[in-house]
Amino acid sequence: MAEFTMELNDEQKEVRDWLHGFAADVIRPAAAEWDEREETPWPVIQEAAKIGVYSLDFYAQQYFDPTGLGIPMVMEELFWGDAGIALSIVGTGLAAVGVLANGTEEQIGTWIPQMYGDVNDVKVAAFCSSEPDAGSDVASMRTRAVYDEAKDEWVLNGTKTWATNGGIANVHVVVAVVDPELGSKGHASFIVPPGTPGLSQGQKFKKHGIRASHTAEVVLEDVRVPGSCLLGGKEKLDERLARAREKARSGGERVKNAAMATFEASRPAVGAMAVGTARAAYEVALEYATTREQFGRPIVDNQGVAFQLADMRTSIDAARLLVWRASWMAVNGKRFTAAEGSMSKLFASETAKKVTGQAIQILGGNGYTREYPVERMHRDAAIYTIFEGTSEIQRLVIARTLAGVPIR
Ligand SMILES: Cc1cc2nc3c(=O)[nH]c(=O)nc-3n(C[C@H](O)[C@H](O)[C@H](O)COP(=O)(O)OP(=O)(O)OC[C@H]3O[C@@H](n4cnc5c(N)ncnc54)[C@H](O)[C@@H]3O)c2cc1C
Repeated sequence: MAEFTMELNDEQKEVRDWLHGFAADVIRPAAAEWDEREETPWPVIQEAAKIGVYSLDFYAQQYFDPTGLGIPMVMEELFWGDAGIALSIVGTGLAAVGVLANGTEEQIGTWIPQMYGDVNDVKVAAFCSSEPDAGSDVASMRTRAVYDEAKDEWVLNGTKTWATNGGIANVHVVVAVVDPELGSKGHASFIVPPGTPGLSQGQKFKKHGIRASHTAEVVLEDVRVPGSCLLGGKEKLDERLARAREKARSGGERVKNAAMATFEASRPAVGAMAVGTARAAYEVALEYATTREQFGRPIVDNQGVAFQLADMRTSIDAARLLVWRASWMAVNGKRFTAAEGSMSKLFASETAKKVTGQAIQILGGNGYTREYPVERMHRDAAIYTIFEGTSEIQRLVIARTLAGVPIR
């Protein structure tokens, strides 16, 4: 087990500086254009692929860094560049993690390379869980997967919504209900291979922020996938369902809390994205406050402005520390006895929303225009308190964990 440290080692610093260069030289200059276009920035993803930032290997290497600081560092730097473009780069990872967490060796080896494509033909992947009537309340999911034993195929029907890369993905990972009696324990994940008939893109959403990231509905109409596309395989599913039925009979508390542990481990990564956006806005505001003069002096000479900057920086540093702690806990198998993963996501995302708003205020009229990046950063920051569990859901998880009551 690695000791918790607040300092990056030399190797990590090297990676951070390299990523920062990519974020500053490639991502940030493209940010305004792709925000206006509201399209997936394929050329930037390709640039990321060329230098190795768009690949499973890179993220796996960072994930297994025992200090736990690898993934937060990567997320902070990329999202410092631009949140929409960065999400287009790391969004495929959501689907890849779905396969890594539940798939067999063979499934991992077959599908993950197809999610990323190659440098000359980059692809993206989508993870489709949310539905119109099942957002925070995942257990209300309705998309059904029914097994056709004669053909050894699964038949998927339903509508997914808010899927990052939905419809444009080469590979879709779809969560569906296999046993409606078991709530979220009756769900299973399926690969929908490229070009499978019956899967189509529904509405593409026009969003408030992260507009360079594609978000859409995914419609599944009698989508037939081979039995081998059930992540983990049929035998494992049957065993898991049998265990869940047994546990449901004897009280479902332990089952639900085990599922929450997975979220605790993934939420710090979203917190790190929020830290990146917050830091970006803070830096613009600090620079502006020291150069913009009113009443014959830089506006930072006014305590009202300086104190805002002090609060912004304090919150960002506090958010980063919470993220690093939770990430270290996840990698080192620590128990999240106070929902520290949710804490980090809650605090960092609320910080990003607040700090980006303060940055607009410090830039005055300029902050409110698209000539300066902070209004985009403020629009982008709003997503962090919504996806991967809203702030209210984080508070609910923290409170129930502290109180020692089941999380449902
Ligand atoms: C840009 C974007 C990208 C996304 N990407 C993906 C993706 O790739 N894959 C995917 O599966 N999903 C994705 N999502 C979905 C996202 O995870 C959901 O939007 C989120 O979980 C909230 O669900 P909802 O929108 O249905 O809101 P709801 O669950 O309807 O919540 C509405 C409001 O009610 C509050 N609320 C709900 N229940 C409670 C409660 N018990 N106590 C207190 N308050 C409560 C919420 O906090 C929120 O403020 C994405 C969403 C967006 C906007």
